[in-house]
Amino acid sequence: MGIRQYLIVMGLVWGAIIAACATAPYTDRSQFIIVSASQEVSMGAQAAQQVKQKEHVSQDKAAGSRVRGIGERIAKVANRPDFKWEFTVIEKQDLNAFCLPGGKVFVYTGLLALVESDDELAAVMGHEIGHALARHGAERMSMSMATQLGGQVASAAIGMQNPAYAQLFNTAYGAGAQVGVLLPFSREQESEADYLGLILMTQAGYDPGAAVTFWQKMAAKSKGKAPPAWLSTHPADEDRIAAIEKDLDFVRKRYAPAK
Ligand SMILES: [Zn+2]
Repeated sequence: MGIRQYLIVMGLVWGAIIAACATAPYTDRSQFIIVSASQEVSMGAQAAQQVKQKEHVSQDKAAGSRVRGIGERIAKVANRPDFKWEFTVIEKQDLNAFCLPGGKVFVYTGLLALVESDDELAAVMGHEIGHALARHGAERMSMSMATQLGGQVASAAIGMQNPAYAQLFNTAYGAGAQVGVLLPFSREQESEADYLGLILMTQAGYDPGAAVTFWQKMAAKSKGKAPPAWLSTHPADEDRIAAIEKDLDFVRKRYAPAK
């Protein structure tokens, strides 16, 4: 590597160190994020346009207003006025839902057919919004950018500055290198989204116990079959449900709105 390339890489690494001081809401987990919040919102908005072009947006007014109603209640407690919240129903028999960075939420009609209450729908929407709130997409992108930057040089440079970041960086780089591509969401991010989702739905006035019945239904649906792609890195069903049950009491006591 020439001195010029070295200086460029060092500049990027320094930029990364300065920008990387992020912590996830509610859990205070340290995050390696080198994408700005405004970049993230505009990338999410762009991706949302592509989803709406590619998929069939539902014309079902009742389904649309149900999803929007629940989503707006959760968005209100999520308290991110910089997000461009939008709630869209996609006409497709997939058990699918996601929230793009910046608050673009999509729910598929296949999933709407599975849920038996607004509380259960709030559970899955809370989970997806939890991913966006904790900037899991930006975190993934940062990991992938860091991977491209080149493992060793950046890792050594970051290591000189701060061992904590070096560890985060190595985790990101190692995970990506192991599977060939970076994982969609890590298990840690999934568990965090479960926890955040539980808090958000509770604050929005929904019964967090519905998260348990929702994930039980999902587990029953996927028995014997490969889980849908968006779930492929999700924790094992029984672990996830046990973790949610364990958090229920605390979340109810701490986050239930005053009646
Ligand atoms: Zn998830």
